[in-house]
Amino acid sequence: MKLHCLGTAGYHPSATRHTSCYFIPEASLLLDAGSGVFRLEKLIDREEMSILLSHAHLDHVFGLTFFLDFVATTPLRKIHVYGERTKLEAIQTHLFHELMFPVLPPIKWHAIEDLGSEFSLNGATCRWFPLDHPGGSVGYRIDWPGLSLAYITDTTATPQSAYWREIQGVDWLIHECNFSDEWVDLAIKTGHSWTSAVLESVANAGIPRLILAHINPLAGEYDPVGLAQATANIPRNTPSQIVVASDSLVIDLSSL
Ligand SMILES: [Zn+2]
Ligand SMILES: [Zn+2]
Repeated sequence: MKLHCLGTAGYHPSATRHTSCYFIPEASLLLDAGSGVFRLEKLIDREEMSILLSHAHLDHVFGLTFFLDFVATTPLRKIHVYGERTKLEAIQTHLFHELMFPVLPPIKWHAIEDLGSEFSLNGATCRWFPLDHPGGSVGYRIDWPGLSLAYITDTTATPQSAYWREIQGVDWLIHECNFSDEWVDLAIKTGHSWTSAVLESVANAGIPRLILAHINPLAGEYDPVGLAQATANIPRNTPSQIVVASDSLVIDLSSL
């Protein structure tokens, strides 16, 4: 099972990164729908797709407006969008306001509160839980037979955060890391994470494979999250594999 990193920036695109969007073609599953959605077209080979939204900030939902193209140029006919009810309502009211984007793609909206904390999704079990971010955001854990993945973005990571309990034992974790350590104050103020806190929390949780995502678009491409220094500070129990996501990177999740 492959994970395609289509958009790995937080906040706004840069010359090298678009905003949050990750695709698993084998499951026809998209995690968030930021500006990286435009890279989807060549990967679509099914009539239906599911999208799990963390929240409704623009860097995670702007790409929903791109789907009209794909309905015309690919087999895609129906898009199932999952998220918290208030966020889905805000998207429909504002992003798809007739003065903003007048033609609605063929989207079926699913409020996750109606599905319970755990629901089935195309052969997988999906669990959702709250994160710590202004306006609220949710994390997801997806369990397929023999493989599990958690998607945690737009939150301030601390080892004490409640969501670590929800993702115990996952094989792969995509976790936001918007800021390197020198931006701790801004990370706290904006509800984001910094590198050392993510690494310490992941080491504490014993999660073996970590993909750092939602990268600050102003950080540049050389070690954008200050990983070299942060890993030196957390020498024990660091994940066996740490990947800083980059746009168009493809990660083989099956290589456990
Ligand atoms: Zn964001
Ligand atoms: Zn956000």
